[in-house]
Amino acid sequence: MIPALMPTYNRADLAFERGEGAWLWTNDGRRFLDFGAGIATSSLGHGHPHLTQAIAEQAAKVMHVSNLYRIPQAEKLAARLVETSFADSVFFCNSGAEANEGMIKAVRKYHAEQGAPERFVTICFEGAFHGRTLATLAATGNEKYLAGFGPPMQGFRHVPFGNMNALRDAIDGSTAAVMIEPVQGEGGVRPATLDFLRQIRAACDEFGVLLAMDEVQTGMGRSGKLWAHQWAGIEPDVMSSAKGIGGGFPLGAILAKEKVAKYLKAGTHGSTYGGNPLACAAGNAVLDVILAPGFLAQVEQVAAHLRAGFEALAKRHPTVIEGVQGLGLLLGLKLRPEVSNGDMQTAAVNEGLLTVAAGMNVLRVAPPLIITPAEADEAVRLLDLACTKLTPSVAAAAQ
Ligand SMILES: *Cc1c(COP(=O)(O)O)cnc(C)c1O
Repeated sequence: MIPALMPTYNRADLAFERGEGAWLWTNDGRRFLDFGAGIATSSLGHGHPHLTQAIAEQAAKVMHVSNLYRIPQAEKLAARLVETSFADSVFFCNSGAEANEGMIKAVRKYHAEQGAPERFVTICFEGAFHGRTLATLAATGNEKYLAGFGPPMQGFRHVPFGNMNALRDAIDGSTAAVMIEPVQGEGGVRPATLDFLRQIRAACDEFGVLLAMDEVQTGMGRSGKLWAHQWAGIEPDVMSSAKGIGGGFPLGAILAKEKVAKYLKAGTHGSTYGGNPLACAAGNAVLDVILAPGFLAQVEQVAAHLRAGFEALAKRHPTVIEGVQGLGLLLGLKLRPEVSNGDMQTAAVNEGLLTVAAGMNVLRVAPPLIITPAEADEAVRLLDLACTKLTPSVAAAAQ
């Protein structure tokens, strides 16, 4: 019989009762080091006092009023995001897919309002992940996810990630935007080179195409800068954010330059929950922590420390790990073909470490941004144990 909870996920048989910082405890008392952070989402870790207090206080006052009224918490959060980014204006929603859906609408609307409604195609990249709604599935372009859901929505074209010639060839009179993740997360923790990002920006300017940045996974400090595209010294025209922006509370956002945002007038787009007082109280609390002096520098430092630990781990276990990739605290261990990332993930769980699988046989490591160097060392130690236990079966498989 079908479970009451719809079986859309392959869940590990673990249920967590409480968490503190980077640690989680199951209901039967086992402790885990959480280097998955709920898929790069619990950016402040678990039970962060500032975040939980902000949520509890706001929940007791008023959670939701709808966008029929002014929402001071949303106005404040938007103003702070504008002040600290390329953007002039912000729209709030509830998830990454919803942010991307709105971003896709925004780039189409921009060209329609410029008198070029035929420019509605968004160029995306192979290996991308933009979400599970019908439009964002089409943007994702993964055959496996599209199968069975009818004709994919029109208006998306895919080119190889990192290939500038293919991108330039794909741009034509129907192109509205280029949409890219600065680091492909689900697709295998693959960073775009900074040069590629800069060349995309230049091509977008050359052809009057908008640059739409999907920072759902890479944003809000995960890269060591507030937004990952800042490493390239470029600015997108519009950007989506979610995952870490609410620290585990559902919140998404579209950040846009005025030239794009000005066409999303009353009645063009909306969301009932979007930017409600509770979600924005959470967002403001997350921002308080991340914008505190020295916080991002610390993320960068601990990320470099963790990466060095992983490089050494890869050297110790060349039959398991092929290489280390990623940016900031979004790191991937590219595994040898003989070792599946699912097996590696399970081996890590057996040692008490939580991670997340990603595409291309990569083990994704995306800890809360608040981890200490000692916790980074502990994760490396646990992965070392997991690699050692996997090695005999690797040797057997190779024979
Ligand atoms: C997770 C993710 C999404 C989808 O976000 P949801 O909140 O699951 O809808 C979109 N884009 C990127 C880059 C993501 O990592």
